[in-house]
Amino acid sequence: MDLTLPAGVNLQESTLGFLKKPKKMLINGKWLDAINGKTFPTYNPATGEELAQVPLADAEDVDRAVNAARAAFEHGPWGKLSAAERSKLLWKVADLIDQHADELAELEVLDNGKPYRVARRGDIPSASEHFRYYAGWTTKIEGTTIPVSIPNQFVYTLREPMGVVGLIIPWNFPLLMCAWKLAPALACGNVAILKPAEETPLSALRLGEIMLEAGFPEGVVNIVTGPGVPTGSAITANMGIDKVAFTGSTEVGRKVMQAAATSNLKRVSLELGGKSPLVIFADADVAQAVKGATWAGFSTAGQECVAGSRLFIERRVYDEVLQGLSEQAGRLKVDHGFAEKVHVGPIISQQQLNRVLSYIQVGEQAGAKVVAGGERLGEEQAGGYFLRPTVFAHEDDDLQIVKEEIFGPVVTATPFDSWDELVNRANTTSYGLAAGIYTSDVSKAHRFAQQVKAGTVWINGYGLFDAAAPFGGYKQSGFGREMGKDAIELYTQVKTVWVGI
Ligand code: NAP
Ligand code: MG
Repeated sequence: MDLTLPAGVNLQESTLGFLKKPKKMLINGKWLDAINGKTFPTYNPATGEELAQVPLADAEDVDRAVNAARAAFEHGPWGKLSAAERSKLLWKVADLIDQHADELAELEVLDNGKPYRVARRGDIPSASEHFRYYAGWTTKIEGTTIPVSIPNQFVYTLREPMGVVGLIIPWNFPLLMCAWKLAPALACGNVAILKPAEETPLSALRLGEIMLEAGFPEGVVNIVTGPGVPTGSAITANMGIDKVAFTGSTEVGRKVMQAAATSNLKRVSLELGGKSPLVIFADADVAQAVKGATWAGFSTAGQECVAGSRLFIERRVYDEVLQGLSEQAGRLKVDHGFAEKVHVGPIISQQQLNRVLSYIQVGEQAGAKVVAGGERLGEEQAGGYFLRPTVFAHEDDDLQIVKEEIFGPVVTATPFDSWDELVNRANTTSYGLAAGIYTSDVSKAHRFAQQVKAGTVWINGYGLFDAAAPFGGYKQSGFGREMGKDAIELYTQVKTVWVGI
């Protein structure tokens, strides 16, 4: 294994130890190769170097995981654990994530490319917090009593687990996405088949070790690795899976629904793409707004479903904001995630880099003006997939770069003049994941929050998340709410019981 690191960077012994081990999948509490013996590589996007070969699961492996999960759900010790015992297991996972935070952050930097500081202070503690938050929920999942009109009947509801749930996640927050899905699914008493993205399987596999160490019984958590096809598609088509929770692109989300419809009508929840509007009014604290917009557009190299990629700036401050934003974008240090003072890491893959570059080209050809960035970073970063944070100025909402999700460090900025025009333009999108507004006028801020069609609205801030706050999409950004109390509904079903008395 080649590992080119910035000078002076030394990895934890435990990270090196994990990297050296042959990578296996977690099925029924055991670490296994794919039945067909196939593997695939995962790369470091900062250098293009291969980090590991990982088992490539096909339908046969997924069947094996589903059988193990079903057995664990119907007959294993899992179903007999009290809610309080499930809580302890989840809490233990959180503690172990914290204990191994340095190592997990290093794996995240290597496999995904994000800056170490971001992984260590953001992704990893947020992942453990999700397990802790849902550890608290196990003992609070309640049914209701219903006053029906038929005499001599006592009616109550039970909130029960779905059963075997398939969890399919993307590569932008590898460990955190595992936590978003596994923590509530397990808190509700389900058993899981998790498929990490093919670009970033490592931290999920390390989490599998942690979950076994925490004491989860065999078959309760299974982790299968491989690409969308055949691994992901084997999950969505499987007749033994009761529910699939998916995070990824809108395009694949459609396929997930189709597969559910033509197999066993498994339940589906979808967290999909976005093209979120971020509005800056002239009465805002402009310096704060510029900082917020920079972070909204370029953190995780813009590879965030909630990226604030469509900027609407009141015309009076348009030039000022645009200039501030270009300056800030130019100052961001784009480099290896272990480099000192790095702000932005690489794009996840060559393929994704090409996609983003072609959007930049399309934007320029269509007449939008590049006011910052626009090109790949070469020389010292050769081998990695680095792109300068890019800002486009335009006055045409019909441009492809304004309508389509780019999923890279590219934002478009346009002026607006009136309230009505603004809300209408902000809502002219097939997506509805998030929106942001910077203003000092409280009523304007709340009015915008009410009128914008998005699942999350940030006022005078952007991109904040908490395990307790529900998150999900309007329109083609998906349905179902993760996090908070809402996620309990995502992973349970209601049974109504009539008792003749
Ligand atoms: P993606 O291509 O849709 O992949 C997401 C996951 O689905 C991956 O694990 C992928 O496997 C798998 N997959 C691909 N094809 C499949 C199929 N036919 N059947 C079943 N599973 C399949 O998305 P991505 O490129 O990883 O991530 C970027 C997208 O995710 C963006 O559109 C972004 O907006 C969205 N996203 C949304 C949220 C949210 O919460 N709403 C969060 C993060 C990202 P492989 O990658 O291994 O092939
Ligand atoms: Mg990788």
